[in-house]
Amino acid sequence: MKAIMKVARGMGNVEIRDIPEPTPQASEVMIKIQAAGICGTDIHIFKDEFPTKPPVVLGHEISGEIVQVGNAVNGIEIGTRVTSETYYQTCGVCMYCRRGEENLCLSRLSIGSGVNGGFTQFVVVPATNVHVLPENQSYESGALTEPLACVVHGVLSTPTVSPGDVAVIAGPGAIGLLTLQVVKATGATVVMLGTSADKNRLDLAQSLGADYVMDVLEDDPTNLIQSITQEGLGADVVYECSGAGPAAQQLLTLVRRKGRYVQIGLFGGSIAWDLNQVCYKELIVTGSNASIPSAWDKALKLLETGVVKTEPLITHTFDITDWEAAFDVFDAKSGVKTILKPVG
Ligand SMILES: [Zn+2]
Ligand SMILES: [Zn+2]
Repeated sequence: MKAIMKVARGMGNVEIRDIPEPTPQASEVMIKIQAAGICGTDIHIFKDEFPTKPPVVLGHEISGEIVQVGNAVNGIEIGTRVTSETYYQTCGVCMYCRRGEENLCLSRLSIGSGVNGGFTQFVVVPATNVHVLPENQSYESGALTEPLACVVHGVLSTPTVSPGDVAVIAGPGAIGLLTLQVVKATGATVVMLGTSADKNRLDLAQSLGADYVMDVLEDDPTNLIQSITQEGLGADVVYECSGAGPAAQQLLTLVRRKGRYVQIGLFGGSIAWDLNQVCYKELIVTGSNASIPSAWDKALKLLETGVVKTEPLITHTFDITDWEAAFDVFDAKSGVKTILKPVG
């Protein structure tokens, strides 16, 4: 089967290869991939800014159909439409694993970076990772359960927002647009910030419920934030979803004293960030690393009930053989979410 693989560490070193089909072990299932989303992490992997164990098939935002189950697997039927959590292996015994915080397990290996992922025809995962797709979700929208689970984890696992809050989100990419929808669902007012390169994405943010959208290269959002917050003091909570240093810095000026700063985007390296403000403003700073299992249940419920929509985020679809064009689209920011489809 054809697979998009990181074949060695270092810049690039991504190619399409023919590899044998996998076989599920006793407690695993095999999924025939129907859709796989390209994520910022895949681009970071291309640039070697994210740890990998090559040679490895990329892709961790997947959906598909169960085509084989290991002989110790019960209760999962062939033909079931599913999506899958991304941890192929965690130790199960460390403090984090025992607390349900498997995302922080030091031995964690994930599909698409540590073991073979979904930019191919078939993938094997532990049966316990699989979630049935709601009937009203397509394979394409279901492939975006993973980024939604990450957002649910970042916004809700440590509570960051309450009804009536004014929230500012920087970065109207896929993660920002999912954050927008989850934050709106809690009853907050949302300001979405982007740049002129994000014109279409800001329009999409508006159609997905953003109360205000602003191009920060054209307008300074300070006045707007002052005019809509209590006593003009600033935003109650800010979410950095762009992974851009200047956005992280700007959010520090927009958040009020005693407000919350939430980091969801990844920068691919270290950035300059005025940590003095954390003291002066007594900020509560939180971040999130991937997701925890309970976030998946919530994410699927948000999809099923239509509170969060992933379909409008899908702007491009490519066969995996056109992966280079697909990665270019991502890098050029000309769309929001690109889906890869297997060939064969
Ligand atoms: Zn991802
Ligand atoms: Zn562990």
